[in-house]
Amino acid sequence: MRRDVSELENKLEIAKLSGLLGIPEHSISGALKRKTLQFVHGKRELFRFDKPVSSVEGGTSVFLEPLEVVRGFPKISRTLMLYPALIKHFSSIKKVVVEEKMNGYNVRVALIKDEIVAITRGGFICPYTTEKANDLIKRDFFRDHPDLVLCGEMVGPDSPYVPKTFYNIESLDFFVFDVREKNTGNPMPVNERRKLMDEYGIKSVHLFGEFDVGEVHTAITGIIKSFGNTLREGVVIKDPEMNIPAVKYTSSLSNCQDLRYAFEFYNDFGRDFFFGRVCREAFQSVEWDEDEESARKRCRKLGESIILPMISTIRKKKAGELIAENVQIRVKNLTTVSEFEEYLRLLGIDAVFETPEKIGDEYLIRIKKIHQSTNDKTQTILGGQMWS
Ligand code: ATP
Ligand code: MG
Repeated sequence: MRRDVSELENKLEIAKLSGLLGIPEHSISGALKRKTLQFVHGKRELFRFDKPVSSVEGGTSVFLEPLEVVRGFPKISRTLMLYPALIKHFSSIKKVVVEEKMNGYNVRVALIKDEIVAITRGGFICPYTTEKANDLIKRDFFRDHPDLVLCGEMVGPDSPYVPKTFYNIESLDFFVFDVREKNTGNPMPVNERRKLMDEYGIKSVHLFGEFDVGEVHTAITGIIKSFGNTLREGVVIKDPEMNIPAVKYTSSLSNCQDLRYAFEFYNDFGRDFFFGRVCREAFQSVEWDEDEESARKRCRKLGESIILPMISTIRKKKAGELIAENVQIRVKNLTTVSEFEEYLRLLGIDAVFETPEKIGDEYLIRIKKIHQSTNDKTQTILGGQMWS
């Protein structure tokens, strides 16, 4: 039976939380009232910040008994023009580190009451990712460092959120890009973090190297060009000491791939994906000093990434098909499947689960995520409805 939320809110030690987060008590009680800080129904008692509240990041999770905080993962700014942006952003330091930006989903893994849990961007515990994290991360890390949070990307084909096959990962794998302290969210310097991960046999994202701030833009252009036709996403540029926030930069190919996905489900995602991604292409073309032919090729690719998936969606709908995204998960325990189904329902994601298929000691479950808004919009327009 569901516990009374107000009873749980009483259990939240506001004065103590205010101390841990470094924000006044009234900000916390105000957030509770506005439901910006909200209780999450699930196996574990947990509150989450739906949006940022003063210095507290959105997606921050608060656990009870003992009161512990896993801070939301900070937003990473994007540069569109490498040279001027990096010189300006990192003006107080001489060297920066360039790491690969992997394309999967952001997960924070922490030890909470003796259990390893995986928290997604929004501050929820994902039951599927938690099963995977327990498989991938040996307990000795958290036995020795119960106060640390591993921030990384879950990548691979068995991903219910961002399935990608091009990394040659069999199921789903975890690559750490940040280690932070519980409660404060303070990050560990890059080299120390990578060494610590190596010591415990935990994978880190690929390191391209350390470069002078004044020259790193050339190195990054080379790295992005070397990705060629693979879909590797881009890079994240970091202060080795992690005092200055990181910056991201991505490839045109992966940009177009995102657009292709978004416009297949155009009425669900198209708008959010559109403007920024078009701007990125124009600035990159100028920074790379492209000739007319390369610029035109870029335009053609961008246009194709937007219109072709939409045409395919409209044709499908015209043929009476359901517009849905096919994803899959692979689990050892069938209880994880029902917990995950319940979790998607909680998030308001409309999904149809197929019967589990036994493969070795695991089960593969295919899932259809239904993007209702695109289905409805396409159907009504095909039926003669005006656009607006
Ligand atoms: P944001 O995370 O900046 O709010 P977003 O959700 O659109 O925006 P992305 O554009 O994917 O995210 O870029 C940031 C994300 O990139 C991080 O949240 C993290 O999940 C992912 N990432 C992958 N590799 C790295 C890396 N090496 N360092 C930092 N983040 C990385
Ligand atoms: Mg991403």
